[in-house]
Amino acid sequence: MSRKVRWQWPLEKDIRRPCRHLWRLGCGCCCRLIGCEIRTWSLPVVLPGSPWPGLDAKDYTELMDYLIPNTFPGKSLSTDVPRAGEMFPVLTAAQVSRIAAHGRVRQVQKGEVLIQPGERTARFYVVIAGQVELLRKSATGDELFSFEPGMFTGELTMLSGRRALVEIRAAGPAEVIELDRECLLALVQVDSELSDILMRAFILRRVEIIAHEAGDVVVLGSAHCAGTLRVKEFLTRNGHPYSSLDLDSDSGAQDLLDRFHVTTADVPVVICRGEIVLRDPTNRQIADCLGFNEAIEKTHLRDLVVVGAGPSGLAAAVYGASEGLDVLVVESESPGGQAGSSSKIENYLGFPTGISGQDLAGRAYTQAQKFGAQVIIARGATALSCERKPYAIELDDGSRLPARAIIIATGARYRRLSIENLEKFEGAGVYYGATFVESQLCSGEEVIVVGGGNSAGQAAVFLAQSASRVHMLVRSGGLADTMSRYLIRRIEDNPRIEFRPQTEVTALDGDSGLERVSWRNIVSGITETHEIRHLFSMTGAVPCTEWLVGCVALDQKGFIKTGPDLRPDDLAAARWPLARPPQLLETSLPGVFAVGDVRGGSIKRVASAVGEGSIAVAFVHQVLHQ
Ligand SMILES: Cc1cc2nc3c(=O)[nH]c(=O)nc-3n(C[C@H](O)[C@H](O)[C@H](O)COP(=O)(O)OP(=O)(O)OC[C@H]3O[C@@H](n4cnc5c(N)ncnc54)[C@H](O)[C@@H]3O)c2cc1C
Repeated sequence: MSRKVRWQWPLEKDIRRPCRHLWRLGCGCCCRLIGCEIRTWSLPVVLPGSPWPGLDAKDYTELMDYLIPNTFPGKSLSTDVPRAGEMFPVLTAAQVSRIAAHGRVRQVQKGEVLIQPGERTARFYVVIAGQVELLRKSATGDELFSFEPGMFTGELTMLSGRRALVEIRAAGPAEVIELDRECLLALVQVDSELSDILMRAFILRRVEIIAHEAGDVVVLGSAHCAGTLRVKEFLTRNGHPYSSLDLDSDSGAQDLLDRFHVTTADVPVVICRGEIVLRDPTNRQIADCLGFNEAIEKTHLRDLVVVGAGPSGLAAAVYGASEGLDVLVVESESPGGQAGSSSKIENYLGFPTGISGQDLAGRAYTQAQKFGAQVIIARGATALSCERKPYAIELDDGSRLPARAIIIATGARYRRLSIENLEKFEGAGVYYGATFVESQLCSGEEVIVVGGGNSAGQAAVFLAQSASRVHMLVRSGGLADTMSRYLIRRIEDNPRIEFRPQTEVTALDGDSGLERVSWRNIVSGITETHEIRHLFSMTGAVPCTEWLVGCVALDQKGFIKTGPDLRPDDLAAARWPLARPPQLLETSLPGVFAVGDVRGGSIKRVASAVGEGSIAVAFVHQVLHQ
């Protein structure tokens, strides 16, 4: 197609449709949408080493020809952008000159590309004179947005150091201030007024991109496939925008995949940056493909390595980095930990209307990065090398992270129901978190929540908003001993929640996904079987300490002993070498601390996890000065 369309601001509803993928972020007097040239998508190439052997360039082209108009780049962005003034602010002359002190002023020529999509080196630009434009390719045309004098480019990739999502180029001869990521971080750390403006704009821009699925990833999957759920959760919890296509409801896509011999075992298929096709990828493969960890140097000796990016680990990262420490965080899954799987946390100080665990984690993650902490994603710690100093964390990719001090914040994971074929249904009907992603899968259907703790209660109340009925199964006789009063009241008052005490799940059944669940009343012995396709299992947690065995003292349940809980025989067995006793959160290994749910005797709350993460940093300073 070669039709050229000039768009006038504001766009009329009827003319928006032909250019479905137009990125309509422009709004107000300072932001101007300047044009949309309809043209064909430049087809991506399969990179060498693409994990889809047998798919040649012609096949790939055909596949993309079908997929791109159906998925890339997600939904049209709305013209009605709330908080547009904060998303695209115009800086004052004084603010621009303060930024100039951190970067260099450059002249750029018309058409000069300042940032390429997919480029690894993040750079930030403020326009002094002329115009810089954002260009985003789509199936039906190029979406353009212009930055006028006083405006700045960038979004959250500027903090994380991940690959750029869009192209930035000069619309004509222009003068700009250019800052690399390190200079930008230095700026936001010292200038609180500019920090507020830039951080807010970056976050709002990313929220807008995610809301409109305008990312560089397409997920082709099925609602009944555990892998699809996992991949979507991974991207969502990492704040990475993506669009998706459901193979169950899109027969055209399925036919095409059949022709390429893509079987159900290959689903989900993830198309990454329009370049690489991944079949049923691991989270690590996705992280690698999107370059989540590329900007992170692993070999130098850090002040502090934090293992785990749940609330306690992220708190340690925020406090450590903001107090000048060189901090690296390692996370085996996604930031947020258990809290990230909570639909709504209502008892965390400062959020009177509650906050979803994912929002809380996203904010903390961004905050840690703002202060310069780096976070390795989708890499697990497999061992603590503790024989000599400096200690090191060994990762599942074979790398070693040397550290002067270590904070262990690996939390706990849900205990699994002891049912023979449980694994078959995990992610395909059996879930361990109740977030928006899972709730979409069971809208209008009956669901089961197993467990009597606060997390189960939250899940039941949250799911009752969209499910037709929630069966809440607990083995005990009631909830009073295990759940907060406010949740018990909501469960009692909710006609959609059916509370079933003294009941346990006995069997799961189904072909490709969960179709039937049997439960038994422990007192009467009566077993019932129900056609229910969704079960949320929230039945207590076990500590993630298997990788630490032999290095730090653990209690009988495998939680880490710290400070006063370490008895003289623990210290003797660990050959504690110092005259002083261990600090409050210190393990039996000097300079290694444990915080949050992984610690023996911890309170198992977000607030206490965050508190411990911050307290531990105070002790880390003491260790580093010894
Ligand atoms: C559904 C749900 C709802 C909840 N609701 C509330 C609530 O409303 N209020 C409240 O106060 N508390 C709530 N909690 C409890 C609260 O979430 C936890 O107490 C808190 O998350 C503990 O934080 P943490 O950082 O210590 O551990 P976690 O949150 O468990 O985080 C640990 C992190 O470490 C990572 N990790 C584990 N092993 C490794 C390894 N070897 N290498 C690298 N990384 C690793 C994990 O992937 C995880 O991200 C809820 C919990 C759940 C599950």
